Amino acid sequence: MKSKIKLSILFLLGVFMTSVFTTSCQNNNSKAENFDGIDTTNLDKSVKPQVDFYTYAVGNWVKNNPVPPDQTSWGAFMELFEKTNKQVKKVIQATSKLKDVKPGSIEQLVRDFYKTGMDSANVEKLGITPLKPEFKKIQNIKSRKGLFKVLAHMHLTSSAPMFSFGSATDEKNSRFVIAYLAQGGIGLPDRDYYVNKNKRSEQVRQKYIKHVQKLFELSGDSEATAKKEAATVMAIETQLAKHSRTRVERRDPNKNYNAFTFAKLQKLAPNFDWTTFFVSQGIKPPKKTDVGQPEFFQNLNKMIKTVKLDDWKTYLKWNLLRNSTPYLNSAFVKESFNFGSKFMRGAKKMRPRWKRVLSSTNGALGEAVGQLYVKKYFPEDAKVKAKAIVKTLLTAMGNSIKNNSWMSDKTKKLALVKLDSFHVKIGYPDKWKDYTGLKIGTDSYIQNILRANEFATKKDLEKIGKPADKSEWEMNPQTVNAYYNPVNNEIVFPAAILQYTFYDVRSDDAVNYGGMGAVIGHEITHGFDDQGRQYDANGNIKDWWTKEDAKKYKARAQKIINQFNAYVPIDSLHINGELTQGENIADLGGLTISFAAFKKTKQYKENKKIDGFTPAQRFYLSWANVWKGNIRDQALKLRLKTDPHSPGKYRVLGPLSNLTGFYNAFNVKPGDPMRQPKSKRVKIW
Ligand SMILES: [Zn+2]
Repeated sequence: MKSKIKLSILFLLGVFMTSVFTTSCQNNNSKAENFDGIDTTNLDKSVKPQVDFYTYAVGNWVKNNPVPPDQTSWGAFMELFEKTNKQVKKVIQATSKLKDVKPGSIEQLVRDFYKTGMDSANVEKLGITPLKPEFKKIQNIKSRKGLFKVLAHMHLTSSAPMFSFGSATDEKNSRFVIAYLAQGGIGLPDRDYYVNKNKRSEQVRQKYIKHVQKLFELSGDSEATAKKEAATVMAIETQLAKHSRTRVERRDPNKNYNAFTFAKLQKLAPNFDWTTFFVSQGIKPPKKTDVGQPEFFQNLNKMIKTVKLDDWKTYLKWNLLRNSTPYLNSAFVKESFNFGSKFMRGAKKMRPRWKRVLSSTNGALGEAVGQLYVKKYFPEDAKVKAKAIVKTLLTAMGNSIKNNSWMSDKTKKLALVKLDSFHVKIGYPDKWKDYTGLKIGTDSYIQNILRANEFATKKDLEKIGKPADKSEWEMNPQTVNAYYNPVNNEIVFPAAILQYTFYDVRSDDAVNYGGMGAVIGHEITHGFDDQGRQYDANGNIKDWWTKEDAKKYKARAQKIINQFNAYVPIDSLHINGELTQGENIADLGGLTISFAAFKKTKQYKENKKIDGFTPAQRFYLSWANVWKGNIRDQALKLRLKTDPHSPGKYRVLGPLSNLTGFYNAFNVKPGDPMRQPKSKRVKIW
């Protein structure tokens, strides 16, 4: 994480978070001829919709679509992701056929980055050699000052040892960008794995130590040395983890915003040489820094003294190794797969090289590839259509606020002001990222990665102290996802999500509102979820709620927390209701307002059946289609620990069991499992 981005996204793509590409103008459904948006062969009619709507709606799909060997989960998102990958590959490969490609042009950058990544013979031949100068820098550290210099260099080029640092929109003055420091520096996906006493955590720790040792061995160290190094790394990371906040503790924007002047920062952690750290990255010590978790830095301050210099060097070397493995020779890649994908997530087979290189091309050159992509595949009329749907959803949210039974007029008024100030971004940015100055060569894959990292970090740090550029995007146009960004009070829908199963011109309104409409509603609701509601219309953290209304809101949110805490997807692991509350609130609200918008359409009013289903029924079937999926046990366990989204199945069962519209559509009676009893039922928006 290079900057503080508190996006509320729709879906977590796990290890493949970077991004993907897709087309909107081609047939995306395999049974294109009879396409009407709901594939009725997905249904399992042996299960009653009133008992388990998820299995009823997509049970056959779930049975017939196991997770492919190189995946850790499979569903509508991943189908789209894979489809897009293939199209992106075409876009990228087309650059190698171009004549007169100018050095420094986006075509040259994309072409050479991908080509060099795909040149596995060269990657094997080079092995770890291209990293030798980097290792040398670490080896040559002789003093604490030297440590901070190299630490800064690594933050700039390869990794983020000890903590996260970058620029961030000032959450209490959102027109400006300030510096941002946050907890970090650990190699496992969550601090809990270091401190929890349960069986899975212990198993993860043991495997991790072995993994660390193996990578040190591959880098040329003896078995005995590598074993010691692994123990050192584990000891340091455990200390960092112990003083890190949990994911739930990090949900509160107010508690995780702490403005520090430079003098105050130096006082907070005097053993840390901040001046050297900043200056070595080419910036002046920032006047204002948001320190997300001050106690983390107080502990780090102690560690700077207590941890031996040699141990810090081992830890830095580990950070370099850990972040470089995907771009090194096959022995490294294999070890990284064995731990990260196979053990942690249950993958059976490595993704083919082109998919991995494509992901990193998207990561390094996202908007360069994005430009080529939208030029070829994104039809302008998709933007117009999406804008029209968004408008109906914003109107529905406005009505929901106005007619809301529990909010005072005072809070309602400010909620409407916030809603009226929503910014909407669709498809791709008006202004593309400028890659001028970035050098991508054909010397080595890892060198390209380091150069691209440095380029991106410098761009990020340049923003500190300047006005915020609200035109920037935090996702590539080719990403199958969407987000709400509270500091910009904006909802953003990249080109790639504007297609089946979310949206298709050939689908009826029921399908489009049950898919894309509910997704848009979901993002709008994020502006008013447990986190979003703490920001005002201008994107500043500010309490605009009356005390009484905030209390009522929290009581309703608590009901959602309780509902989801009761779900146990695997073994004894239940959903973390608190961690997932924002997403669950957004799903419930999104479905509610999208259904309200759908009720205004001609199709709903005419109430004609298609394939035997009423429009209202098709609306809810469409939502289930979006979340159909299979996931490996290991990946599910990891998600339950780290993902603020509930597993797909529960994103269907949970919200629908609260909705009167759903009860009416499928004749769900009191006492049916798909109907929450009145005392537990919740409605916020
Ligand atoms: Zn979301």
